[in-house]
Amino acid sequence: MTGRYRAVGEPWLRGERLDQLLVYDETHEVTKEYWQLLKETFMPNQAKNSVVLASGGTDSTLALVNAMHDNPGGEVHMLSILYGQKHKKEIEAAHNIYRHYANIDDPVIKNGSLVVAHRVIDMGNPFAGADSTLIDFDKGQPQLSYLEILESEGPSPTVVPFRNANLISIATAYAIINGCGLIYVGMHATDAHNWAYPDCTPEFLGAMANAIYVGSYQEVRLVFPLIWMHKVDVIKQGYALGIPFELTWSCYEGREKHCGLCPTCIERIEGFRQLGVADPVPYEVNVRFTL
Ligand SMILES: [Zn+2]
Repeated sequence: MTGRYRAVGEPWLRGERLDQLLVYDETHEVTKEYWQLLKETFMPNQAKNSVVLASGGTDSTLALVNAMHDNPGGEVHMLSILYGQKHKKEIEAAHNIYRHYANIDDPVIKNGSLVVAHRVIDMGNPFAGADSTLIDFDKGQPQLSYLEILESEGPSPTVVPFRNANLISIATAYAIINGCGLIYVGMHATDAHNWAYPDCTPEFLGAMANAIYVGSYQEVRLVFPLIWMHKVDVIKQGYALGIPFELTWSCYEGREKHCGLCPTCIERIEGFRQLGVADPVPYEVNVRFTL
């Protein structure tokens, strides 16, 4: 039993190249290299079942497809969490995406994996009192890009304090209880860019990965396959892998259509625009997708 209680961090975080991972890497080449190293060296015998934190958006849906592709024959559980956000559109979208993948049997898309569950956990309203426009019903969503927010106001008013640590922690408990060895999350480089969302950075996710590995008796690993990708890359890879973009929901507003004006709508539109393809979801405003 002695071995169980010794200091056992993630091998890739204990290594001599820790200093490189903890320095924010604009190109994400270091992070990418670490994932290859982790997958090839440390994870060959990892349990095949996975949990995907599913918010109904493009990023978590691509993380879901990554989970399917990485783990042929494994079970994939989708997990959505109510944390006091103003609307449930993202939960509905996540459920539609679950039904899509649970009901198709495309070997190219599913790689033999089974999407077996979509669980919604209501954690109450732990962020009550936060200034975040995602939480506070008295505050409207900003109608600015993330870059404009950064230049004019500093941290985005959409930030929910330490949210992802809470969501990932719940996913970890779910993973342990349900025999899943992997947790997939969809944070990407545009989230982390200029420290917009600190709980989306490689540094933060690496620290969470370490805590999860230690706190699960080394049974569970956190996987963040999009961390070196920008939004346009997410959409490009999503198209290549057949993601049903028409079922996804990104908007901070909870109306029938995407507003087209909030930061996440602007980011989504810009991603499609850079790729030169039209987003299939309807918008309240006219959007041009050609440059
Ligand atoms: Zn919007």
